[in-house]
Amino acid sequence: MEQHPITKAIRIRTTQTDEMEHSSPLFLTSSFCYDDAEEMRATFADENDNNIYTRFSNPTVQEFTDRMVALEGAEAGFSTSSGMSAVFASFMGLLKSGDHLLSCNAIFGSTHTVISKYLPRFGIEYSYIAADAKAEEWEAAVRPNTKMIYLETPTNPGLDVIDLELVSAVAKKNNIIFNVDNCFATPLGQRPIDFGADLVVHSATKWIDGQGRVLGGVVVGKKDLIKEIHAFCRSTGPSMSPFNAWVLSRSLETLDVRMERHAKNALHIATSLENNPKISGLKYPFLPSHPQYDISVKQMKNGGGIVCFELQGGLSAGRTFLNSLKMLTLTANLGDTRSIASHPASTTHAKLTEEERLAVNITPGLIRISVGLEHQDDILNDIVQAIASC
Ligand SMILES: *Cc1c(COP(=O)(O)O)cnc(C)c1O
Repeated sequence: MEQHPITKAIRIRTTQTDEMEHSSPLFLTSSFCYDDAEEMRATFADENDNNIYTRFSNPTVQEFTDRMVALEGAEAGFSTSSGMSAVFASFMGLLKSGDHLLSCNAIFGSTHTVISKYLPRFGIEYSYIAADAKAEEWEAAVRPNTKMIYLETPTNPGLDVIDLELVSAVAKKNNIIFNVDNCFATPLGQRPIDFGADLVVHSATKWIDGQGRVLGGVVVGKKDLIKEIHAFCRSTGPSMSPFNAWVLSRSLETLDVRMERHAKNALHIATSLENNPKISGLKYPFLPSHPQYDISVKQMKNGGGIVCFELQGGLSAGRTFLNSLKMLTLTANLGDTRSIASHPASTTHAKLTEEERLAVNITPGLIRISVGLEHQDDILNDIVQAIASC
């Protein structure tokens, strides 16, 4: 009987060495050796699967990739040095001058920079579409040269949920590659490939590491697409460090239990805060009040670990909230064991104009909480007392 992906994410490992180690070894090496000239020739001629150089492949990195492939239900994958290099490689490996990329407008800040500043330098066109676009709007946004559709769901930081089945139908009909950043949900919360995605990219830096230690990224999906991405990365060099792969691979062994608890804590906090008189517009994908609740429960197994809400006092209340927290950390990360608070309008998105922020639902008092693994009462108490001081 085929093992469950969760079991595979624990049991897939590099071949055991003669030392009979139980935990996987860390192959911290930049290159690999050959017994003789003939073996080396055959390896370079691609006549066997031997490793050559860690920029191309490494057993520790492959272990992490194989576990991610199993979790996402993909055919193949390639791991990269960060989430951004995974996103960039998924574009550069597959798009060429004259192609058009259709992207949702609510995307990670650096992804927006890559799409709007760098892709046009290579003659790749782009256009943005709103997260709540209807099927007809997606269809109308497709151009004859549209080669890829790209989106994140749930979106960052607004937590809008996009119907993967709906967008995938548009992509299939028009023969377009459908690429999804699954960083927020993780494969334990949502598997975009089950809903028709061709490619899934991740920042492994977030929930996958789960403890704020290392950077990493991965692209998984259809074999023929990954082959092109691998070829691009092999020559351009955004490879994952074997050390980071070893850390991330251990993290995958606990991802299922961690995400279950992150989501349980987040649901508790969302439910408890929902009627707080000093906030409005609290959003969590698994709250029935979420505008896309029906889509969330259709495509997600849990609501994930992020909760966001709007402080009535706007920009200045946002700053007061951050200053009043006693336990939650102010830091530019998410997906950690430690709960984190952020105020996008005064930090990550401060460079945008108010109008640009509002276009992607970043209101002046928007607070994003990455719910950690501390006891739910301690997380909630800290947030409640900080809201009270706003
Ligand atoms: C953080 C993040 C990225 C970028 O990942 P890095 O590992 O920081 O390069 C991409 N997409 C989303 C949704 C993210 O949160």
